[in-house]
Amino acid sequence: MANERSTRRHKALRAEFRQECKTRGAECHLCSQPIDYSLPRDHPEAFENDHYFPVSTHPELIDDPANFRPSHKGCNASRGNDAVAPSLGSPSEVW
Ligand SMILES: [Zn+2]
Repeated sequence: MANERSTRRHKALRAEFRQECKTRGAECHLCSQPIDYSLPRDHPEAFENDHYFPVSTHPELIDDPANFRPSHKGCNASRGNDAVAPSLGSPSEVW
């Protein structure tokens, strides 16, 4: 299967999601800390679009905004492809 992570549609969806999070002042869904949306993309505390269901196990959800979660780049990186731990709260937020 082709990797669709870099398709134009996905980029547009991610940009839209980031803008939405920025407007809402959305917090990181992994550590519940605020995200500074003005940080450069390569900063460890910069915004990164996480997928609640990892793309590795749910490739069909890569373009599904309902599967998007705001996160810090560093938090997302340390999470890796693990499922979100139950102790971090339920995925009750509906987009
Ligand atoms: Zn975080």
